[in-house]
Amino acid sequence: MATDQKAGFAQVFPEYENPFVGPEAPDREMIQRCIHCGFCGTSCPTFTLLGNEMDSPRGRIYLMRMVTDGEMAPNETVMKHLDRCLDCRACETACPSGVPYGSLIEAAREGLEKVRKRPLSVRILRRILFRWLLPNRVLLNLAGVATRLYQTTFLKSMVRGLGLLPKKLAELEPMMPEAPPVSSMRALPAEVAAIGEEKYRVAFFGGCIQSTLFGDVNRAAIRALAANGVRVVFPASQTCCGALQAHAGDREAARILARENIDAIDAGEFDAVILAVSGCGAMLHEYKDLLAEDPVYASRAEAFSDKAMDVTVFLARIGVREAHHPEPRKIAYHHPCHLFHALKVRKEPLEVLSAIRNVESVPLNESDWCCGSAGSYNLTQTEISMRLLDRKMGHVKDSEAPVVCTGNPGCQIQIAFGARERDMDLRVVHPVVLLDEAYEAEGVYRNATLP
Ligand code: SF4
Ligand code: SF4
Repeated sequence: MATDQKAGFAQVFPEYENPFVGPEAPDREMIQRCIHCGFCGTSCPTFTLLGNEMDSPRGRIYLMRMVTDGEMAPNETVMKHLDRCLDCRACETACPSGVPYGSLIEAAREGLEKVRKRPLSVRILRRILFRWLLPNRVLLNLAGVATRLYQTTFLKSMVRGLGLLPKKLAELEPMMPEAPPVSSMRALPAEVAAIGEEKYRVAFFGGCIQSTLFGDVNRAAIRALAANGVRVVFPASQTCCGALQAHAGDREAARILARENIDAIDAGEFDAVILAVSGCGAMLHEYKDLLAEDPVYASRAEAFSDKAMDVTVFLARIGVREAHHPEPRKIAYHHPCHLFHALKVRKEPLEVLSAIRNVESVPLNESDWCCGSAGSYNLTQTEISMRLLDRKMGHVKDSEAPVVCTGNPGCQIQIAFGARERDMDLRVVHPVVLLDEAYEAEGVYRNATLP
C-alpha cells in the first residue's frame, strides 16, 4: 500500500518525494479517526486568533491527509499552517474521537523536514543546537555563563549601543531569561537521603535547559522530595530528553537521546523517574511511542515511560507533607500545555499548592491556554506567540495575583517576559519552589545534608 501510494504521488507531483510515507509518517488510521466535527476549533489558540480553517486542528489534519494520499504536495501552504501549530494539544482534550493529534503533528514535522529547503546556515544551526549543544551539559553551561556575563557586565549596553546584533536577534533579545549565577548551574549530587524514615527511592531527571537556567528548581524539588521521605538518585549519564528536537521535526535526534536516557536510568530499580520540568516529562512519556518500532529498546522504553512522573504528581500521590509559607500570598496557577493536555495532570499541582496552608489559589481565566512559549515557537512564530502572551497577561492582571505558579521553564520564561514588558510586579515560580520555601521556613531541613 505504501509503495502504491508513493508511486501515485510521484506521478502527480514528480518533483517531490512523498514525505508522509513509511513507518514514521503520520498514521493514516489515526488521521481517519477525525470525523470533522469541529469540536476542537474553539479550544485551538491559533484558530481562535487567526480564524483560518487551515490553522485549526481539523484543517491541519485534512492537510496531512491530502499529503498522505498524494492529493497535495508538501508545499509552502502545508508547511506554513503546520508550522503555526503550537503542538499544545488542547485539541486532544476537546476531541470526542480520540485523535492523537500530538503524534500526527510530530510525525508530519519529521516528514516535512525531509523536503524542506532550509538555507545551509539554518541547517547547520539546527544541527549544532539539537545534536551538540542541548545534549552537552558542559557546552550548555558555558553558554549559560556567557549569557550571564553578557547580561551583567558592560557587554550588553556596548553591543546594543553599537547596534552589533542582527535585526532578528535584537528583536528576540528582550525575551531572553535572566541567566542565573554560575553556582546555580552546578551538578546535582549523585544521591540525597530521605529526611527521616525512607519510604521511596526515585531517580531524578534534570533536563538540559532546566539544569542550566533553573537548577535551583531542581534542587528545590529534590529537597522537597527528601522532606517527604524520598531518597533521590541522580544518574549522571542522563542527557537532554529530546523534546525540542521532536517538536521541531528532528525525531531522529530525539530517538538517539531517548536510548541514551534509557541506558542511563534503569527505571525498574526505582519507584519513579521524577522531573520538575513538564515539557521533558511529556517527552519521557512519549519514549514508548518514539521507540515502538525499535526491536532492542521498545519494551525498555515502555517501562521507562510508565515510570516517568512530574514531581507534583508523585508528591500528591504519596500525600504531601503540609507547611506554612513565610509570606502568605495569593497565587494564580497556569497549566503548562503538555502537563494539562498531554499528560492530563490537572489537580496534582494544585494539591501540592494547597499543602502550603497560607497560600491561596485564585482563579486564572483560560489557565489551560497556551502562553505562546511552546518550545521554540516564540522565536519562530513571534507575532502569534506575542498575541497569545498578551491574552495570557491580561488574564494574569485580572486575577490580581502577585505570583503565578507554573511547572514548565518555557512558560516561566514567557510569562516573566510578559510581566517585564508590562512593568508588572509579578513573581513567576514553580509550585515546588514555594513548597520548598515553606519547608525551609519551618525548619524541616535542619541538620539534613541537602543540595
Ligand atoms: S496542538 Fe494546539 S495549536 Fe495545534 S492544532 Fe491542536 S489546539 Fe491548535
Ligand atoms: S474534535 Fe477531533 S474529530 Fe472533531 S474535528 Fe477536531 S480532531 Fe477531528
